[in-house]
Amino acid sequence: MGVAKRVLASLAALAAVVCPRSSSAYAVPVERPLVVAYHQFVQYEAGLEPNMPVMLISQFEDQLRYLKEHGIRTLSIEEYAEAVSSPMPPGSTVLLTIDDGYESVYTLVYPLLRKYDMHATAFVITSRVGKQNVTNPHQPWLSWDECKEMDASGLVDIEAHADASHDKVHSVRNGRDVAGPYLTTRTVDPVTGTEETDAAYRARVLDELSTAKRKIDTQLDKDTIAFCWPFGASTTETLIAAREAGYRVTFRLAGEGHIDGDRLRLHSPENWGEITRLLGGAGLQSDPADVVAAPTGYGTTTTSGPPGGPSATALSAPGAQYSPWLQELVRRLVLASIAMLVGGLFWSICALVLFRNPRPARPRAGAPTPGEGQEGPSGLGA
Ligand SMILES: [Zn+2]
Repeated sequence: MGVAKRVLASLAALAAVVCPRSSSAYAVPVERPLVVAYHQFVQYEAGLEPNMPVMLISQFEDQLRYLKEHGIRTLSIEEYAEAVSSPMPPGSTVLLTIDDGYESVYTLVYPLLRKYDMHATAFVITSRVGKQNVTNPHQPWLSWDECKEMDASGLVDIEAHADASHDKVHSVRNGRDVAGPYLTTRTVDPVTGTEETDAAYRARVLDELSTAKRKIDTQLDKDTIAFCWPFGASTTETLIAAREAGYRVTFRLAGEGHIDGDRLRLHSPENWGEITRLLGGAGLQSDPADVVAAPTGYGTTTTSGPPGGPSATALSAPGAQYSPWLQELVRRLVLASIAMLVGGLFWSICALVLFRNPRPARPRAGAPTPGEGQEGPSGLGA
């Protein structure tokens, strides 16, 4: 039984070494920069709303200071898009993203980015830029002038989050009228009850993605390259449409897939400990208690395989001149060779234990028979 257990354990170890990482709920490949997602900012605690993605700007400043002090560089969206195909040392860079296009990006975040000379990407809902925020007057939307100034500064990249697709559309599921994300839901005609055709659906998605890009391109005289999926909802079809519309990189939230860029949602400072753990490992943390909590209510932020982990270091250390797949191939070949060496050693020891022990016992049994000693249950002992 002991031998069987050891054989199983050795096979499990071999599988763990040779197979790729597969258990990560947070699916950002380790060689890509960590991406953090923010939403709204307020200056005073009175503006905080429970269960809403609102952060005190002083806490955001603490985080910028932390990044600065630890030499972690904030990327522009262009640098991030480059990093997708040409990995950077893990933990050395981060992409800060801010969803929805609230004016607090301009009034609160932008001055801090200038102060620390750091970068962020703002994903705006183009149909709302310059409009009144009727549902929440305390959080006005950005204007195009503010977008222009920030984008021109080089510190804030204005990219696309939606034009109309930040709302849901009606559909029918199991005979019930339900609302679903605009870009991933086939609409149903409320009068006739007929579902949108594939062709009509694809045309609507492409039009939405193209419209958001065209508005930003035109207003800011630039080439918008990134799209952030509303509700984190995307499929293979929407991804194809995004490519067709001219985007180079798209984003969801951690745990919702791994299209191009998953983002760790940061609603509150509680999970900043998790961010710092992913950025630099426990070595950057003075208090281990900081790194424990996956905050309740934000179930998508569970992680494994921190970018600073051993496999990530092995990947990036040889340098970025080799493509990621080649590095991965070499890594696996090396690991497989080590596993085979260890396995060979293990089996050699097994063979020694199994086939050598019985010999000294033979003479005492009284009637040694040449050639018999290596077979049969009695030869193995009880
Ligand atoms: Zn949003």
